[in-house]
Amino acid sequence: MSLLVVGSVAFDSVETPFGKVEDALGGSATYFSIAASYFTDVQLVAVVGRDFPDKHIRFLKKRKIDISGLQRANGKTFRWKGKYDFDLNQAHTIDTRLNVFASFNPELPETYRNTEYVFLANIDPVLQLQVLRQVKNPKLVACDTMNFWIEKKPRELKETLKYVDILTINEAEARELSKESNLVKAARRIMTFGPEVIIVKRGEYGALMFSDSGIFSAPAYPIESVFDPTGAGDSFAGGFMGHLSRVRGVNDRNIRQAIIFGSVMASFDVEDFSLNRMKRLTAREIEDRFKEFKRLTVFEDL
Ligand code: AMP
Repeated sequence: MSLLVVGSVAFDSVETPFGKVEDALGGSATYFSIAASYFTDVQLVAVVGRDFPDKHIRFLKKRKIDISGLQRANGKTFRWKGKYDFDLNQAHTIDTRLNVFASFNPELPETYRNTEYVFLANIDPVLQLQVLRQVKNPKLVACDTMNFWIEKKPRELKETLKYVDILTINEAEARELSKESNLVKAARRIMTFGPEVIIVKRGEYGALMFSDSGIFSAPAYPIESVFDPTGAGDSFAGGFMGHLSRVRGVNDRNIRQAIIFGSVMASFDVEDFSLNRMKRLTAREIEDRFKEFKRLTVFEDL
């Protein structure tokens, strides 16, 4: 089973209270693909510039990610500069350079068009829809976005959301998109835009899922050494969609398990800068942490 993703492949310059990196590998589609590659076959759609080094391409290939949809264009790779203060739940964007994404015209390879599981990672909603239109018969479409697009392209984002089944979104962005401060009301309002399931990511407080069958709450794994939260949301989505694509079924039970796998992947991501933790992550560690999540939340009935 395979899983298609469109999103950013980037150079990130990030500063947290624990250190900083310059022009490190990042991007929503990169974090997503690497995380999802532990669960399923991933097909990546994105663009990079001439400045993108081969070592990053080798890393994607080593994880068996299909990069036939990764274009290389004349120009510079997307760049994001961000900063986190001691409240690591809140990223502060200092600079966003779309570069080659500004004129990106995604053209899906023929082998991608029958893919059933699709993730529209954080990128221009116009590109998200352009990619989705080329997929013949998607079974599950999930999507992510951020304040940058909520503010710059609200109309286009609402158009994309009409075709989305599941939206993953940060707490603050859920409030901004819905114009509701209460999260339950915010989720209900966003459902009227299209998605039937809303997963609100709450950083170190975990994730909340809202759907017609109720609400599910997952904690975040308590970690002592959080260094860099960049990519936690995309790693969450990678584990989440990766599991759903692997078990080939979208029902409440699988969605709940997928949320825990998403939380597992996010918890590994934050343990180091850029994708450094993912570079040494093993399948065994993922399974072990999934079990630890179960122990963290299980309790007996009265
Ligand atoms: P998150 O998982 O929410 O921490 O996403 C972090 C990633 O999003 C970083 O690696 C950035 O390169 C990427 N990013 C930041 N701003 C944007 C944007 N406006 N569009 C697409 N990707 C972005």
